Amino acid sequence: MTVDPTHPDLKSKNKDSSIIDATKFHFLGGADEVGNVGCLIEDDTTTRVLVDYGLAPTKPPRYPSPSPPVDNVILTHAHIDHIGMTPWLTGSYDSNLHGTKLTADVSEIMWSDTYKISDIEGYPLGWDRRDMEMALDSWIPHEFREWFEIGNWNCRLHRAGHIPGAAMIEILTPHKRILWTGDIDTRNSPNVQGAKPVKCDILCMEGTYGGRNHKPRREEEERFVKRILQVVSRGGIALVPAFASGRGQDVLRILHKNTPHLEVHYDGMGTRVTRHWMKNPQFIHEPKELESAFRWSRRVSGKSDRKKALNGDVIVTTSGMLDGGPAIWYLNRLRHNQANAILLTGYQAEGSGGRKLIEERHIEIFGKRIHIPLEYDKYDLSNHADHNSLIKFASECEPSDIILFHADPEASREISKSIPREIRVHCTTNNSPIIIPHDRE
Ligand SMILES: [Zn+2]
Repeated sequence: MTVDPTHPDLKSKNKDSSIIDATKFHFLGGADEVGNVGCLIEDDTTTRVLVDYGLAPTKPPRYPSPSPPVDNVILTHAHIDHIGMTPWLTGSYDSNLHGTKLTADVSEIMWSDTYKISDIEGYPLGWDRRDMEMALDSWIPHEFREWFEIGNWNCRLHRAGHIPGAAMIEILTPHKRILWTGDIDTRNSPNVQGAKPVKCDILCMEGTYGGRNHKPRREEEERFVKRILQVVSRGGIALVPAFASGRGQDVLRILHKNTPHLEVHYDGMGTRVTRHWMKNPQFIHEPKELESAFRWSRRVSGKSDRKKALNGDVIVTTSGMLDGGPAIWYLNRLRHNQANAILLTGYQAEGSGGRKLIEERHIEIFGKRIHIPLEYDKYDLSNHADHNSLIKFASECEPSDIILFHADPEASREISKSIPREIRVHCTTNNSPIIIPHDRE
């Protein structure tokens, strides 16, 4: 990745006439799309912050635009579409990384995995292991609700729901109070309590689920448990592909609570992420329950464990989109017995293995396109706020302006239509800044 020296943001900060008496939001990625988020926020005080810098793990991955030099980056949570490109920043600019301690702890696993995958798949990444080491040394962790200074601004983090350690960012500038939601969920999930609104002038809100509402979470969990029991009672194994950071742990807690008699094997990167969660119990909802669910599950740590898992009842493992990882190894063995089933628990991106399973009933296994005759089903165990929750949250923050991001154009339109008229809504696109004047009431 190279930086264009003629990029407007590389000029002297004071001379940028567009930000005199205004706050400017420049999306480098993740504006009218889900994933690869990065947004520069700056105002006439010469303070500049980059919020998130991730890559979308599609095939090939989608990257944000190169960031101009930036001293301070605030990272909302340890999902790859929010932090995946951060080592490039520390390698290029030696930036400080602000976030919660749990986000910092989990980032190492996420970056190592991203590096490994791009190496195997042959995708350019723009950063290497040395940059990653620098990134790990650049973390400045903050507690929730504790103010810290960046330039002329005061900032603090609030719980965002979504996954443990995920933060919303409150920024107090001399002119405006800004709230950046990151990915949020206002509902309680098995492992984290929901986000609460924060009063602000400018609300930057994610809109992944604009125009769509979730089924009640409890009903969806019951449907999931019922199907697991059905598969096991006919002598099959339920394969549950689940993301390493969030969904896998939610699934474990649901199963531990509802089906304690089953033999549940837990494999993949999620087991390492969970150990970090347990070391940071202040971020977990009922941390003792997580600990018991984790100890109850049979953690897979080698080949012989994997073979044992093939005699169990349920296998919870990465990758959540059937794009690699142990899930593919298991699927290759489980596909021969039609008593087995696949229970998808998350979004399946275009081009992913999970999407191919749904649309073509075929999956690429070790380079070969293989027919998968197994039964599959999808469960909405999302950790994002849905349409109605986003509208309620936005109204309760009482902003004068809302900037929508992390949403496709259709989702943004739906949200805009539902927001009370007195609030100005800005739908964003990458690389065309939103400028909010300070003197406007
Ligand atoms: Zn996320």
